[in-house]
Amino acid sequence: MSSSQSNDACLIGKKLKKSYGDFVALDIDYIAVEKHKITSIVGSSGAGKSTLLHALGTLMPVDSGEIWLQDKNLVRLDSKELAHIRNLKFGFVFQHHQLIPELSALENIALPALIAKKNKEAYMPRVNELIQFMGITHRANHKPNEMSGGEQQRVAICRALVNEPEIVLLDEPTGNLDSANYTMIHELFQQLNREFQQTFLIVTHNQELAKLSHRIIEIKDGKIKSED
Ligand code: ADP
Ligand code: MG
Repeated sequence: MSSSQSNDACLIGKKLKKSYGDFVALDIDYIAVEKHKITSIVGSSGAGKSTLLHALGTLMPVDSGEIWLQDKNLVRLDSKELAHIRNLKFGFVFQHHQLIPELSALENIALPALIAKKNKEAYMPRVNELIQFMGITHRANHKPNEMSGGEQQRVAICRALVNEPEIVLLDEPTGNLDSANYTMIHELFQQLNREFQQTFLIVTHNQELAKLSHRIIEIKDGKIKSED
């Protein structure tokens, strides 16, 4: 990766292609997600937003192209190396929180740290910091079905942040929430970005919320239509 391209970029996709039969779902020449910024991906339903996010997060293989995180081209890594990178370098938040129903909020949040084989002394300060930051301390020992949708999504965001990832990828994280809750969650993203310089890449179809980010990339027919 040349330094001229990588200085301020956290994650770079080059010549990314993904087809389903004859249908081209993704055809991205170049995308760079800036470090310490909030970038939104917008576009209508079916435009290819989720495909792009999942491709960049290595949750879905591409047909061709390169995905650079720091000095590694992720498409060249084997599944074991990728699982390691996903656990430590990426945080993921989806529209449906995908929390484990049998575990408490605290246990759900700690899970990526346990997978990384961190010990309790190492991860508990971070877990407590996040729970406090997200205003869900009083919910720490509750199971997901005992929490509101907004609280569940805040737990999912804490889980995504627990290993202090390079970048958090979010696919319509507020799609299931009412306006009071999604406004609050987007304010939390801005606060996390300001206080921890956390990098976010957020797929949303809500233009108002996209405007709160530093950069907006618009996707149409699997291609970048515009970026600011
Ligand atoms: P968005 O998130 O912008 O709504 P997606 O990335 O989910 O759009 O999908 C982009 C396009 O790719 C859509 O037309 C969708 O139908 C198609 N697509 C997504 N996944 C598959 C699949 N597994 N098989 C076939 N087509 C798919
Ligand atoms: Mg989608």
